Order: sequence, then structure tokens, then C-alpha cells
Amino acid sequence: MESKGPVDVVITDIMMGGMSGLELTDHIRSHYDTDVIIMTGYSAEYSYEEAIRRGASDILFKPARFEEILLRLKRVLRERKLTQEREIMMAKLKELSITDELTRLYNSRHFYTRIEKEVERCYRYQHSLSLLLLDIDHFKDYNDTFGHLEGDRVLMRMGTIIKNSLRAMDSGFRYGGEEFTILLPETHAGESLVVARRIQEALSWEKFLPASTSSPVEVTVSIGATEYRMQENITTFIQRADMAMYCSKKNGRNQITTLLDTHSKEYLQCLNSWSSKTPD
Ligand code: GH3
Ligand code: MG
Ligand code: MG
Repeated sequence: MESKGPVDVVITDIMMGGMSGLELTDHIRSHYDTDVIIMTGYSAEYSYEEAIRRGASDILFKPARFEEILLRLKRVLRERKLTQEREIMMAKLKELSITDELTRLYNSRHFYTRIEKEVERCYRYQHSLSLLLLDIDHFKDYNDTFGHLEGDRVLMRMGTIIKNSLRAMDSGFRYGGEEFTILLPETHAGESLVVARRIQEALSWEKFLPASTSSPVEVTVSIGATEYRMQENITTFIQRADMAMYCSKKNGRNQITTLLDTHSKEYLQCLNSWSSKTPD
């Protein structure tokens, strides 16, 4: 089939040399997004049901009047357009259901769906998988000083910074209010630090100028990094990233901490200080 662009509808006879119209219909339906109208002079041998079963959108019995051909063609084209519009709408709805409205990153519901898939892929292909957890520093103060709307602006900019800092296979999520997660497939924890540093650096270049001030306000983020360990459950994996982020807070904020093992000395130290007091 040769054409200069996508073909909407093919009208084919059934009896043809080489390939029958039904075989052609099979071929078109399995290889192209094109509708087929079958045409036949053998009305006793072929039925509407048979044509539809084979993937055709309609059948025409010869001799067919031009007006009838035109009407059927228009109907198939109309249904085709409706189907395409429905598919676009469904894709938009799906996108909306997994997107955080404010930051345009994926939402936390989608984070849990994705992390399960990525962990499964780790098992199947023995790939590495890293996780970053980010929490904006002193964000409550920012809101209290400059107002919630200005706080929202920071979150939006943070969404853009995260998006711009990721590679095609990474994905960023708004995990909670001012917390974000980033999944980095096929990435060791050491390599994930490159992304973490890129985000901190990009944030340090951002000039936040809330309406009530004349000089720019600095916003920083504390980051925890970790890598998935085979066999561990997802909760343990996420908790380790959270604990690493907590360590960054504890050590002065605007830091990146890596914790690789839930039983390591570093992890237990973090856990101890976390259970004894809050990081302020
Ligand atoms: P820390 O450095 O320890 O993380 O301090 P923090 O103030 O950032 O942390 P805390 O958990 O005390 O406060 C988080 C703040 O984030 C409080 C809440 O009002 C704000 N926040 C959460 N969601 C939103 C949002 O959608 N918009 C705005 N503007 N603020 C939000
Ligand atoms: Mg927080
Ligand atoms: Mg915070």
C-alpha cells in the first residue's frame, strides 16, 4: 500500500488477483490505523456480519449507487473522527489523573504505581534503581512570611527545576505538600547524586521575589538518596530515602545524604536521633 500520508479509509473488492479483499482487510487492520469498506457482487456468499467479523467497517453490494457509496463513506469517516476524539479525551483524562495540578509533576498515587513497576523490573532484569526524596527547607516559614500564594509559586518552580534536571527515563513526583520523589531506573545511588546536585544547584540560581520584598529570597532543599536492595519491600526502600533526607535536615539542611543499608551504622544513628527529637 503506497500513499503520501496516512490513509483514513480503503474500499476494496473481495475478488481480486493475488490477495483476496478479506486477506487485504486482515493485513490493513493489523498493520495500519485505517478503516476498510468491503465491496462485493456476491451478496449471497458474503454478509455484513462476515465483513465486520473480518475487521471491515462496512460492506457494499454491487452494483452500488454513487450516493450510497458516498453516504457510507461519510458515516465511516464520522465514526472514525469520533473514535479519535474519544481516544484523545481518554489519554487527557489519564494524564490528568496521574498529574499534580500545581507542579505538573506526577502525583503521589502514580508514584506508588511506578515504584512497584520499577521494582518488578529490577527483579526481572537485575537492574539498579535509585530513589531521591526531596523536602523544601523551612517552607512553613516561607508561607508564614510571604503568604501561601508565594509558597505555591515556589512549588511550581520546583516542579520545573525537577523536570528540567531529569533524564528521559527518570520520573519526578510531588510526594506530599513540599516533598518530592524521583525514581531513577538503571541508576546506582552514586549516579543519582549527580541529579540531586543538579537540582540543588538549579534551585540556588533561582531568584524568588515574593511580592512583599525587594530582595530575592533563597530557597533550599534537603535531599535523601538511596538504592533499591533486592528482596527488600517497597516500604523499607522508601523509608530509607526518607531517613536519608532527615539526615540532611539534621546536618544543617540544603544537604544530600545517601543511605544504602537499613542496618548500617549511619542509618541507625539517623533513626536514633529521629526517634529522640525533631530536627530543629
Ligand atoms: P523543614 O525544613 O524541617 O522541612 O521545615 P518545613 O517548614 O519545610 O516543614 P513543615 O513540615 O513544618 O512545613 C511544611 C509546610 O509546607 C507547611 C505547609 O503549609 C506547607 N505546604 C504544604 N503543601 C503546600 C502547598 O500546596 N502550598 C503551599 N504554599 N504550602 C504548602
Ligand atoms: Mg515535609
Ligand atoms: Mg520542609
